[in-house]
Amino acid sequence: MEWKEYFIGQLMTQKEVELIWNKYLSQSSLKLETIFNHLYSMPTIKIKQKYILCSRCNCQDQQQYYMISFNKSKIIYCCACIQMGRISSSDFLYYLPNNKPLKIRNKKSFLTWQGELSPQQHKASQEVLKQLNDSNHPHLIHAVTGAGKTEMLFPNIDEILRKGGKIAVASPRVDVCIELFPRIKSAFNSVKVLLLHGKSETKYEPCDILITTTHQLLRFFQAFDLLIVDEVDAFPYVDNDCLHFAVNRAVKEKGKLIFMTATPDKKIVKAVKKGLIYETVLPARFHGFPLVEPLFFWLGDWKSHLISEQTNSKLFSSLKDFVALDGRKLIFIANIKLAILLSEWLNKQFKSLSLSYVYSSDPLRHMKVEKMREGSYDLLISTSILERGVTFENCHVYILGAEDPLFSKSALVQMSGRVGRKASYPSGIVIFGHYGITNEMKRAVKEIREMNQLARKRGLLNAKI
Ligand SMILES: [Zn+2]
Repeated sequence: MEWKEYFIGQLMTQKEVELIWNKYLSQSSLKLETIFNHLYSMPTIKIKQKYILCSRCNCQDQQQYYMISFNKSKIIYCCACIQMGRISSSDFLYYLPNNKPLKIRNKKSFLTWQGELSPQQHKASQEVLKQLNDSNHPHLIHAVTGAGKTEMLFPNIDEILRKGGKIAVASPRVDVCIELFPRIKSAFNSVKVLLLHGKSETKYEPCDILITTTHQLLRFFQAFDLLIVDEVDAFPYVDNDCLHFAVNRAVKEKGKLIFMTATPDKKIVKAVKKGLIYETVLPARFHGFPLVEPLFFWLGDWKSHLISEQTNSKLFSSLKDFVALDGRKLIFIANIKLAILLSEWLNKQFKSLSLSYVYSSDPLRHMKVEKMREGSYDLLISTSILERGVTFENCHVYILGAEDPLFSKSALVQMSGRVGRKASYPSGIVIFGHYGITNEMKRAVKEIREMNQLARKRGLLNAKI
């Protein structure tokens, strides 16, 4: 491999350049100094009169910069991107854009996926394929939960691979990245696929397809011919200017940006309406069954019934019915403390039930999700962290306290979308247990119904229940 390949597309600190040289090139005749002479550089922190700007994350919030005096000079640090390694105004950032033009190098497909796209997926895939060379317009894939949006992108990824290009699939959610990685790796098993996120030990190295969190994109500079941002409306990407900046910089000037979600936010919907972003809508699930519509269930003051463990409450009777359902059960609840109380209560009441709870900073989070996936738990109680990106076979959902202000329309649609994702279990139960119906709840159900209607209108709901 030519030495430049180790650096292409990356934005690096001096230390990072040295680490790469040490790891791959210190045994060669190439001197570190020669490498620095070939790399482009820029000051890490730009100081414009009273305005400070970090070159890595472009943070506009002046509160994120702090200054220390050292040997009569002032050094400024950026706190906004400190988790990527500390940088200061006394450092430089080094980069080498990916200038390799795309041209067909391989007639043969790299796709080793054995599945078949549904007619809807195939049509959408072709639609995106036609726009792949248009770098001026990002493409939004608005696909309902379980539509198979990842699979429909396989022909697009293959096209870029055959042209010798580089691809990144990024998501704001680490759980989504972890779930995507094995699927993409087995779909393209002859190319190098790498998973990169803040919690893994893996360091970046040249690869064909990178699966990464949006945060890690701060490490790249015009690197990718195709950059796919999955779950584009999810926290922390949505409304985060630094991450938007990172995405736009990580894609090559002539590269293509694709956004994917089941629940586009207002900003992106507006951009679509203005014609700045092209859109492809997939209203049906890949198996041709409709989205499961939620059932509203009024619980009264469920919080106090939960705290006092009242078995003669609507809450308890609804939980009893839910627990008795055949299959895996997922209960969403906004508050961690209440999630713990609920798990203790259910443990006491249903001794034969194998259950656990999970929340965002839970150190055992990934292990618990894996155990739920393989069927070791009957029931998992979760805060909204599992609202998207996870698929459990034969699963029912109970959203306890659906009226909580933390549960937006998008969150409710995503949580409902965990049910009926597999062709072997295409339906199930979704309950909105509540103490008063909110507008967000109404909007969520409206959206689910509208997508089902659109799918029916397009003749995509072939399966009979
Ligand atoms: Zn920064």
